Amino acid sequence: MSEKDTHHHVENESVFKGLKVNEGISQPDSVSADSVKRFLKKNRKLLAVQVYVDGILKGDITLLSKAVTLVESANSKHQKLAQDIITQCLPYSGKSIRVGITGVPGVGKSTFIEALGSYITNKGGKLAVLAIDPSSERTKGSILGDKTRMEDLAGDKNAYIRPSPSAGSLGGVARKTREIIILCEAAGFDHVFIETVGVGQSETAVHSMTDFFLLLMLAGAGDELQGIKRGIMEMADVIAINKADGSNTEKAQMARVQYQNAIHLFPKKDSDWAPNVLTCSAVKKIGISEVWEQIEKYRSLTGKNGYFYSKRNEQATYWMHETIAEQLKRNFYDNPEIKERLKVLENYVLSEEMSSFVAAGNLLEMYSKLK
Ligand code: GDP
Repeated sequence: MSEKDTHHHVENESVFKGLKVNEGISQPDSVSADSVKRFLKKNRKLLAVQVYVDGILKGDITLLSKAVTLVESANSKHQKLAQDIITQCLPYSGKSIRVGITGVPGVGKSTFIEALGSYITNKGGKLAVLAIDPSSERTKGSILGDKTRMEDLAGDKNAYIRPSPSAGSLGGVARKTREIIILCEAAGFDHVFIETVGVGQSETAVHSMTDFFLLLMLAGAGDELQGIKRGIMEMADVIAINKADGSNTEKAQMARVQYQNAIHLFPKKDSDWAPNVLTCSAVKKIGISEVWEQIEKYRSLTGKNGYFYSKRNEQATYWMHETIAEQLKRNFYDNPEIKERLKVLENYVLSEEMSSFVAAGNLLEMYSKLK
């Protein structure tokens, strides 16, 4: 039988009036789920800047999330779009109170954020919870921000939870988080929490983008055990001893007095704010409103004495310089000619044929002549 005959349908012959059978189409090659995903990814349509901006300003969470994804993307087209969106959102940002929350894993950060977060949304506030998690860049594992955390807030329409951006250096992650704050504020979130693990440099980054810094601690564990450095305690505007419930209540009260005495010895803050130590139980929701009261008092004091605004201005210029430094570094290290020369000079340095400084000078000179 010829191929034509195979496709021939007798029903189309003139004797079968009013009946027509269309030819079928041949079976397509098998389509794997992966190839479909790849196709969709490549052809994912980017919306116009105005669509994102209008959506964000209306408080559309889907468009906010899409814009946040663009901020986090390493793709240069996405980055350009993200920057345009941020620029247009900037005039609508800045109206929130930004709170940094830190403490070692297990201290109760997510439980506390759920408790304080629900307290805020019940009062009619809108809360965005962001995270800076240094572990997610190094190991790709995340201490913060996995999906099962903060289930109550996740289902609260007045709360927006976003895990830490994971790609790049701490500086890069921090810059992205700062940009995400702008988007969230433009979307109407008047409270922003930035959560981090109090064990490394990330709290300095968090401090550089928040108005208020809250340190959660536990009673009965020495500072060494909690991995909290003195510098971090000095940054704190309030220290809250969590898990002050059940048989732990008394120990927490004692720890409160000890910490309160210790922080009295720290130098006076530029804000004129005298940090306090409180106890709370995130699980039992005890002492949560008292922590919030402290934040409100701080906001009022620093609003009156101008520190709130001078700190924000300082942070804005800090981030300008950080962004410049990061961009320059990336341009330098991504340059193919530099990359090649760098390998050669690295070997000279290792074999002690050249000093580190001469090699660096040599590369920088080469870079300045490249453009
Ligand atoms: P994170 O790692 O700092 O985010 O800590 P989690 O919020 O995940 O809490 C760690 C553990 O401590 C969980 O088992 C919580 O249920 C428990 N926890 C958190 N807050 C309290 C509290 O106020 N009292 C008690 N007894 N347990 C708490």
